[in-house]
Amino acid sequence: MKSYRKELWFNVPARRAFINITHQVEECLKESKIREGLCLVNAMHITASVFINDDESGLHHDYEVWLEKLAPHEPVTQYRHNATGEDNGDAHLKRQIMGREVVVAVTDGKLDFGTWERIFYGEFDGRRRKRALVKIIGE
Ligand code: ZN
Repeated sequence: MKSYRKELWFNVPARRAFINITHQVEECLKESKIREGLCLVNAMHITASVFINDDESGLHHDYEVWLEKLAPHEPVTQYRHNATGEDNGDAHLKRQIMGREVVVAVTDGKLDFGTWERIFYGEFDGRRRKRALVKIIGE
């Protein structure tokens, strides 16, 4: 069995953003030379997500509004976590909802997606260097 590992780095200038990383993951798959197997992509931070959905700007706006309703950033004093001196209590909750990782089947050297599926890195506490892990195993 072959195994491949790579870290993708991000430095999002805003607090929050959704970044389509499908192309980067496809490049990893090409590099791995794996034709049949599984591809895992996970955020390596507890205030960021990796998820699969549509690359549609209206939907991304809706996510932002929905997440901000569920876990508003302000007032930061509403979160006990922020009593540690941090201000990212909301980011931990947003990450939990949007998920830590995705697993995509690799078939015939390609990510075996449904028609509209794309992979996104969801940042909820940016303005610093953070990373996601790509791990691919198979033959
Ligand atoms: Zn925190």
